[in-house]
Amino acid sequence: MNTIEQLWLLKQIYQGENAYYDREKALHLYHIPANLSAHQLEALKQAGRLPNQMYLPRHDEIWDIFYTMADAWTLPQAADAFIAGLWSAPFLWQSALNAKLLSLATPRHAFTPYKGSAHTCVICGFQDKAVDPALLWFNRMTGGVPLDGDPTGYVFALREMAECGEKPTPTAYDLWTFRAILTVIRTMPPKTRYSKIRDALHKEKLLPASLKGTVCSLLEALALAGILDTPEHPGMATRFTTYQERDIRPSLRVEVQAPLAWWDTSAGINEAALRTIFGDRDYSSVSLTHRPTPDLPLSQTITGCLKGQKNPAKRLPSSPDAGKGPIQAKDVYAIRIRENLWITVYCHRVEGIYGVMEYLDGIFPEMPGKSQIISSYRPRTGGRWQAKVSGMDRTTGVKRIARNIPAPCTDLAEPKSISFATANSLRHLATWCFQELI
Ligand SMILES: [Zn+2]
Repeated sequence: MNTIEQLWLLKQIYQGENAYYDREKALHLYHIPANLSAHQLEALKQAGRLPNQMYLPRHDEIWDIFYTMADAWTLPQAADAFIAGLWSAPFLWQSALNAKLLSLATPRHAFTPYKGSAHTCVICGFQDKAVDPALLWFNRMTGGVPLDGDPTGYVFALREMAECGEKPTPTAYDLWTFRAILTVIRTMPPKTRYSKIRDALHKEKLLPASLKGTVCSLLEALALAGILDTPEHPGMATRFTTYQERDIRPSLRVEVQAPLAWWDTSAGINEAALRTIFGDRDYSSVSLTHRPTPDLPLSQTITGCLKGQKNPAKRLPSSPDAGKGPIQAKDVYAIRIRENLWITVYCHRVEGIYGVMEYLDGIFPEMPGKSQIISSYRPRTGGRWQAKVSGMDRTTGVKRIARNIPAPCTDLAEPKSISFATANSLRHLATWCFQELI
């Protein structure tokens, strides 16, 4: 099974709708979609990419491996791999740079619990919790670097890169891409913060990625390295900062850590760090309108190939009893929880834009029809539950299947209070009433 086939299967598994928390094992895991065959899963297993095979890292052991594996790299090799990972090589290779810088800068230390988050190390950000190596690989190949200097993430990235063998060298187009990224940063107005730069880079399509998160990860990587830092909040090329220092942000609303959290275009690009890391190259600005042709076409990059993989579009048929018009009392809707898993929900009445909804009994492998509706409510353990739900008629995977269905008879009392919800959130809220969906 080739790399793209593996990633395509993992992409279908690692979707939000398949994520769940296994309370017994205390692990975040993923349901395997029912449409994947046993043969496909066996091939994934043979490739060592089966999801949910959790690994519990140990702090000192991770750092021993980290120092040893990063020793196989020189800083110029890591800088080259980073630039190659912008386009011609998989995104995975971007991780080489901060792996090298973190290993050089981080002092040997014992696990020191973070106040308020005892499973996190205050020095390095190590998290004492199980990871899914297949998910880490998927994220490195299709997204970006391990965030916040996560040492376990970097160790797994180093392992994956070691298994690839030869370290990549940047193509002419990779080098142009790097200069183009610097150009976008340089030409933004003073005091522009990372979110605006992320949007500008995303708009320029300088990376073979469609998600803004991938671009943001790149900016976080440049910042942690020290290219986008400030004297008060330096990156690793200047000096080591502890995880606790990096976790101080100007406000709670800032999602990224220091240095990026504190940096803006007025601080500019740290030219000294740029030359320390990437050596004496031409970093001058390029014309974004006269773009050279990529050495590797977009369609042949990892993300480009994956974009071409699609399951045959499954158009949900309209139920013959769905009727026309907006939601009204006595409607029943089917809700797709995930592949091959549906439940139903009853509309008691309409209040403005909201339908007052309550789950009905029954779990179905396909979208059920009117004749399959079960006339009984599905309460929570504490009693009946209803919600004022918006968006019932305009949410993917939520389809009306019948009208004018009498309300089920029940001995259970009406709920004392009714909360608000969206049609989309009915998927997740269902686990409170349907324990078997977890
Ligand atoms: Zn630590």
